[in-house]
Amino acid sequence: MSVQPTLSGGDRTTKTEIRFHDTMSGQTEPFVPLVPGEVHSYTCGPTVYDFAHIGNFRTFVFQDVLRRYLKSRGFRVIQVMNLTDVDDRIIQKSAAAGVSIREYTDKYIQAYMDDRRALNLEPPEYIARATEHIDDMVELIQRLTAKGFTYTSEGSTYYRIANFPAYGKLSKIDVAGMQTGTRVDMDRYDKDNARDFALWKAHKPGEHFWETPIGPGRPGWHIECAAMALKYLGDTLDIHSGGVDLTFPHHENEIAESEAATGKKFVRYWLHAEHLLIDHEKMSKSLGNFATLRELFSHGHKPSAIRFLLASVPYRRQLNFTPESLQGAASSVERLRNFVSRIRAEKFPEGSSPAIVERAAKAKDEFDRGMADDLNTAQALAAIFDLVRDANTAMDRGEFRKGDAAPVLEVMEMFDAIFAVLRDDDAEKLSALGISPNRHSLSDAEVDAIVAERQAARKRRDFAASDRIRDQLAERGIILEDSRDGGVRWKRK
Ligand SMILES: [Zn+2]
Repeated sequence: MSVQPTLSGGDRTTKTEIRFHDTMSGQTEPFVPLVPGEVHSYTCGPTVYDFAHIGNFRTFVFQDVLRRYLKSRGFRVIQVMNLTDVDDRIIQKSAAAGVSIREYTDKYIQAYMDDRRALNLEPPEYIARATEHIDDMVELIQRLTAKGFTYTSEGSTYYRIANFPAYGKLSKIDVAGMQTGTRVDMDRYDKDNARDFALWKAHKPGEHFWETPIGPGRPGWHIECAAMALKYLGDTLDIHSGGVDLTFPHHENEIAESEAATGKKFVRYWLHAEHLLIDHEKMSKSLGNFATLRELFSHGHKPSAIRFLLASVPYRRQLNFTPESLQGAASSVERLRNFVSRIRAEKFPEGSSPAIVERAAKAKDEFDRGMADDLNTAQALAAIFDLVRDANTAMDRGEFRKGDAAPVLEVMEMFDAIFAVLRDDDAEKLSALGISPNRHSLSDAEVDAIVAERQAARKRRDFAASDRIRDQLAERGIILEDSRDGGVRWKRK
């Protein structure tokens, strides 16, 4: 690992050169932004048709670690995140619920923002709702049309991928043998179905639409991100990041759109986070291993433990999410918090010990070297835990002195500027989400047992007991629904 002065960063100290793995080149490369000291970064945000799940948050935590690290290295970060608040699923679900798409998505945007706060995700500089940027999308489609990259069919506008010879360069698909002129109307499809994709979808009866110069309709998903990225960040971005499943078709199509329109390179570094697995399996609703953040919170898991676990595995490695790994993350956070409290609370003898001061400097250097190496958070954390162990030992032996506290705490602050788990505010955050921290002890089986007890009380017509049990469960966030036939169902609030 070479150590050299950063030419591009805002910092003037000698630090390790930052390197990122770029999906486009397939290589880990020195990170040099276009404008010295400034990073223009685009993040694909959620499609707000439901609560975001823990797999989504793996990517959002990675993006937060990325921006925090760049900031800690002195860069001014300008990050844009979109909110996809119109798409096939949103249209279907809002229609089924009998509400406007605005009303339908507002609820999930609010929930998403609350979840972000619970995980200490810093707000991006721009949060852009797709439905507030329809004009920008229409304008970009018109630019593409003027350059001959589009055609229309039955009121929809499609991107002609045959006219963009570089198509496939990010996802490395071969489009040579592909039939030209075949189209796909869906936003999500696989590599085998690479086709001309919809930029603008013609209005269908009953669907929400916008009246525009390119006809009545609504945008396709891929044009949203391209239009908003170009609007806020310019023709060439430094970093575009997202989950690995967005590589194709979403990011491939964003490249085709923006590069065809501007004639310039769209993105200098493509960073993709790997999947999150639950018990070694891909998370899916059909497997029943699909977890939202709120479900985890109401089962007693702390926001700090979840953030720590998601941040601790380097983003390009698959992350296996299990109850044990969450437990491990919770104890790691405890250990770090206890360590900092101990240094702040204990009385140490005057003076300082050169060995500890040196130890802290080494940890600082190793932490930064881990982070600079394509955000190797595991390596960075190892440096922190080594320091914690050595400093604890020194304190146990009475070798830790008053003057050692500041340099060690400085390392912990540097760590926390990125990991953001040291503040003991989990209970506060859960109650902000309306989740009471003291009701977590009940497992499903325990609830079932208490409910059965209440059923027995009802059967013997002991309604005082039955009501008391109902109230006690309500206090712990369990709601009972009695049915007319004497049965009962329960759910968590
Ligand atoms: Zn996107």
